[in-house]
Amino acid sequence: MPKKTRGQELADKLTWRAPHIAKDAPKQVNKAHKFCEGYKKFLDEGKTERECVRYAVKLLEERGYRQFDSGSVYVPGDKVYFVNRGKSLIATTFGSEPLEKGVRINGAHIDSPRLDLKPMPLLEKEDIAYLKTHYYGGIRKYQWGTTPLAMHGVVVKTDGTVVEISIGEKPGEPVFCITDLLPHLSRRQNERHLNEGIRGEELNILVASLPYQDEAVKEPVKLMALQLLNEKYGITERDFCRAEIEMVPAFKAADVGLDRSMVGAYGQDDRVCAYTALVAEMETELPSYTTVTILTDKEEIGSEGNTGLNSDYVLHYIEDLADIAGVPVRKVLRNSICLSSDVNAAYDPNYPEVYDKTNACFVNRGCVLTKYTGARGKSSSNDAGAELMAKVIGIMEKEGVYWQTGEMGKVDEGGGGTIAKYVAHMDVDTVDLGVPILSMHAPFELASKLDIYHTYKAFRAFYK
Ligand code: MN
Ligand code: MN
Repeated sequence: MPKKTRGQELADKLTWRAPHIAKDAPKQVNKAHKFCEGYKKFLDEGKTERECVRYAVKLLEERGYRQFDSGSVYVPGDKVYFVNRGKSLIATTFGSEPLEKGVRINGAHIDSPRLDLKPMPLLEKEDIAYLKTHYYGGIRKYQWGTTPLAMHGVVVKTDGTVVEISIGEKPGEPVFCITDLLPHLSRRQNERHLNEGIRGEELNILVASLPYQDEAVKEPVKLMALQLLNEKYGITERDFCRAEIEMVPAFKAADVGLDRSMVGAYGQDDRVCAYTALVAEMETELPSYTTVTILTDKEEIGSEGNTGLNSDYVLHYIEDLADIAGVPVRKVLRNSICLSSDVNAAYDPNYPEVYDKTNACFVNRGCVLTKYTGARGKSSSNDAGAELMAKVIGIMEKEGVYWQTGEMGKVDEGGGGTIAKYVAHMDVDTVDLGVPILSMHAPFELASKLDIYHTYKAFRAFYK
């Protein structure tokens, strides 16, 4: 290599840009590829928050975790988990430091944008039966037409028994679909704004088209659909009012690209951080600080509800830990650190106009540390302090984690929020960290395996 000029040497010393991992450390590619095999299984097993909790509990119990009991005493290295209403979960490994020195919190969310069935979903129009939906979270509605959909959820029957619904995942099972206009007849639809390409009340899912054989029945196709559901699950139309049924993309997680460098799947926001956080939690044997790994619900609709982080369920859990240790919870919280682990928007060379290229995060450059989120003047943001940024960067660099910084887009372009501000509200030092995502909130999102792997490495380092 030719000798560097003085200017080049000075530039090496003074300038910085997060390196491309595969250029800097090609050996990481294989490790990342291996790590993501378990991740793809996690995505296929958990397409709703309830399914994620169930699968996570299975993995935790296999690793020796026991249900948390606020009446028990725990010693360093003990592992417990707590489930909140089947939709969110907290896992802990007790640390060797006293609890008043704080806990290490890693919070990710396991709800993803989708189409929820309305309480009275069934409708027949011109001999076709439909399921009416109300979308959950920020979706670009036009992306959900002509996409194969699967039905997931629960129905609680009058006697209290819970029926698990799942149609469209196993090979050979039928799927469902929202139709769209053909290009030949879409002249007027094409003139709609993109956000109205398919309107909310047009997100009706085709569910059946054959009639029940009886001339006297007014809506025979709807009745046929109900009969099939009744045969399979023992439910009636009224039971939809006692149900939570979520329509999600039916396809499985897949490698993307000739080089298999990416994972493509539904729900990577934010199951990519949930999985990496969960694995880091499970592999943590004897941490200094007690870990609090949170897989939460309801982030996509503003963390509302008692399974979201704008409720006190995490506070109450940490209060229980503090009670067991005999210390005031405020002391624990004040000394705690939280990674609010959520995805960020990866720079997309196809749409450069919405990004500030100098401050965007890029695929294959590692996990993204996001100082602040929010929109238009950092509104509604948890803006992490410089001291915390220094601490988290220090933790990552000590363990050879590839990381980058990232802001969601251009200043006045838009924005978003995470769970960060709700954890910070408890007087906890909080910063966002996660994986850059392409096509975020689309039915099929992309993430780089190298970035996923280094997010996991960041979480491992955080719990050391
Ligand atoms: Mn998210
Ligand atoms: Mn999101």
